[in-house]
Amino acid sequence: MTITNLVLPVNTPVRIGQGFNGSFTHKLFPDLKVDDRYSLDFMGELGDRIYAVAPGTVSLLKIDGKDKDAYHGKDVQKGKDAAKHTNYIAIDHGDFFSLYMHLPEGNNGLNFEIGAPVTERFPIGYIGQTGWSTAPHLHFAICAKTDDGWRRTISHSFRDYDGPLEDTVINSHLY
Ligand SMILES: [Zn+2]
Repeated sequence: MTITNLVLPVNTPVRIGQGFNGSFTHKLFPDLKVDDRYSLDFMGELGDRIYAVAPGTVSLLKIDGKDKDAYHGKDVQKGKDAAKHTNYIAIDHGDFFSLYMHLPEGNNGLNFEIGAPVTERFPIGYIGQTGWSTAPHLHFAICAKTDDGWRRTISHSFRDYDGPLEDTVINSHLY
């Protein structure tokens, strides 16, 4: 399954750090019940805006993670420990969710009520690096609606971007 016709969650030009099936962290983590194979890391500058990729409603929001609790190195255990401080927002699109991670502390003052409606390309946050992040970026994913406790990402594409999304084609470095 592939979710198509999304709009980009970032401004152009697009720079993808780690793409689909990236060997660093975009893979299966059975112990965490996370299938992160179809995630994308959009590189950016701190404070760059991020946008809803489709119309929906805000379904998850965590913005109390502190910038000082972030980890910017490549040690997997330290990274997993820091990951619980990741800030994120999720948008419910009916059949699936979109997930935007590493928002800055307090989301730079941008807050939402759960259930708040957003339109396509609505500004929902900013590029940050809370949690485990080796450089400022947006970790983005489309997630299935599951009832088994897993977070399962789904392949997806954007109508305003036709560059490569697979990590093997991007030849990425780590994020
Ligand atoms: Zn990522």
